[in-house]
Amino acid sequence: MIMEKEALFGKTLEELKTVVKEHGFPAFTAKQIADWLYKKKVSTIDDMLNLSKKNREILNEKYQIGLSPFDNVQESVDGTKKYLFQTSTRQFIEAAYIPSENRKTLCVSSQVGCKMGCLFCMTGKQGFQKNLSAGEILNQMVSISECDELTNLVYMGMGEPMDNIIEVLKSLEIITSEWGFAWSPRRINVSTIGVVPAMRRFIEESECHLAISMHSPFNDQRKELMPIENVYPIEAVIETLKEYDFGRQRRISFEYIMFEGVNDTKEHANELVRLVDGLKSRVNLIKFHPIPDTPLTGSQHNTMEAFKNILEKKGVITTIRKSRGEDIYAACGLLSTKKLLKEDL
Ligand code: SF4
Repeated sequence: MIMEKEALFGKTLEELKTVVKEHGFPAFTAKQIADWLYKKKVSTIDDMLNLSKKNREILNEKYQIGLSPFDNVQESVDGTKKYLFQTSTRQFIEAAYIPSENRKTLCVSSQVGCKMGCLFCMTGKQGFQKNLSAGEILNQMVSISECDELTNLVYMGMGEPMDNIIEVLKSLEIITSEWGFAWSPRRINVSTIGVVPAMRRFIEESECHLAISMHSPFNDQRKELMPIENVYPIEAVIETLKEYDFGRQRRISFEYIMFEGVNDTKEHANELVRLVDGLKSRVNLIKFHPIPDTPLTGSQHNTMEAFKNILEKKGVITTIRKSRGEDIYAACGLLSTKKLLKEDL
């Protein structure tokens, strides 16, 4: 959907205060608009009933709510759903809804495509198209039918959240503020491959959990898998994390996708233990889902178990993550809208 008018949805309370000031509305109107947007989730400005008719008309001239429904949904045999959204610029993004026994998690995208070029990632192969606005990030959350049931939100879909830090922080502010969705930041986990300056900002300006994509503890190999290692080596990322006190509630985790015969050896496990020593964190081992044009394959389950045992024996809390939504390409590293971009635009 082409959006001609500016969207109100996705504006912080401060930004709404600027809007009402510009139009000469009473200052308290900003909080009223935030209520309509984020608590009552109205779909038109005319639904904002405690604003005067005249003020609603003024808003309608320049603004719209800015929500857009999903274009398509695919459901996996395991209950995972992949939602396809179209942005205001007619590009596509995906969000994955992952229900389990005690959690209902939504994995959202923060960019259309990604410029980080990780070898094992479909989004990386798509290249970078654009940063999503805070409103476009949050639209994925409120426009799915399961919105009210969600228990957790993870920024692990398309894109590198730290490469779009301003809009990501804005979206987190809206979700966690009392005037917004009023979620606890402990229900939100944001991932990064380790873009250090933006990661610092994230640590200092939010209280959400942080997940670092490690995938290899060895510099040369990590450079091959993840070009970011040339700029911010994994040691620098970990040293930065050690500067902060994350308290008892805030969680740091390392994501480790396992590639058969590549990063799943005893040497890798021992080096990983050495790297995270002294940092209160946990490690999530993830089986790799093969993608086209890469020789990489996923490690066998017994190899993953053996790797986990080495980590656990040395005191590192380790989990093997269950794979979800593989059949609909909703699993980790599989989100891509390249095909759609080519065919539909
Ligand atoms: Fe980008 Fe993340 Fe894919 Fe790397 S793994 S290319 S940072 S989306």
